[in-house]
Amino acid sequence: MTDLPNALGPLLREARARLGSTVDDPALDARLIVEHFSGTTRTQAIADPERRVGAGAVAEIDAALRRRAGGEPVHRILGYREFYGLRLSLSPETLEPRPDTETLVEAILPFVKAVATQEGECRILDLGTGTGAIALALLSVVPTANATGVDLSAGALATAARNAGQLGLAGRFTGLQSDWFEKVSGRYHVIVANPPYISSEDIGNLQDEVRNFDPRLALDGGADGLNPYRTIAAEAARFLEIEGRIAVEIGHTQRNEVCEIFTAAGYVPGSVFRDLGGNDRVIVFERIKP
Ligand code: GLN
Repeated sequence: MTDLPNALGPLLREARARLGSTVDDPALDARLIVEHFSGTTRTQAIADPERRVGAGAVAEIDAALRRRAGGEPVHRILGYREFYGLRLSLSPETLEPRPDTETLVEAILPFVKAVATQEGECRILDLGTGTGAIALALLSVVPTANATGVDLSAGALATAARNAGQLGLAGRFTGLQSDWFEKVSGRYHVIVANPPYISSEDIGNLQDEVRNFDPRLALDGGADGLNPYRTIAAEAARFLEIEGRIAVEIGHTQRNEVCEIFTAAGYVPGSVFRDLGGNDRVIVFERIKP
């Protein structure tokens, strides 16, 4: 049973009040939950606050508000999140795509476009693809690009495939279950990765919403958080075109260490890109020409 009103305006107000003391942005989360489960839009709520919401939807909203108040991230409850203007389904096996990761898409996009124009295609390898976010964002803007999305998790690959299908990109996206490069073959113009980069020790210090709901496989980068970069730097050469580039997301304190790892393996750091919060977030590497 629920004490929620069934007119849209009062329902929104009550939803906000219920979340008020427990979450960072109660107005936003209440709106996302109410709109999603009632199938209404923000405009409708403003234009017609007396609009009735069906009893089934009100019950779903009630359940969702309880989950949110219990600490579950709002996008896990909705089952999707927007990334680079695309709606991506989530599953328990996928990291929730973050706005910070859009920085990676922006950083490598000009190169992807340039290769696509020159070569008539651009082959992208996305290591640890999760929801497919990075690869699918690039494919959505560059119609002659194609991508292989690698993940160790079969559940993540199923979600990535579903997202590719929903976005009409299935013909250019191939999922591959592999431990980093283990099963990868062929050569790519671009290798992208948002690898797990939190040190095992720091996992305990993450926000509850991250620690309890994002998969550990997508977060834990080993003792110092840098192991995935070591693997990528050591093995990428066999799979990268000579003039190719590697773009990786990093933790905001890892710039120097990650540059050292790739420099020692024969790469030159091109540019470092900052996220919206002004933190170092993405490095693009080029190969040292033989
Ligand atoms: N950016 C993530 C966080 O908020 C970490 C993701 C990762 O390890 N790649 O903690």
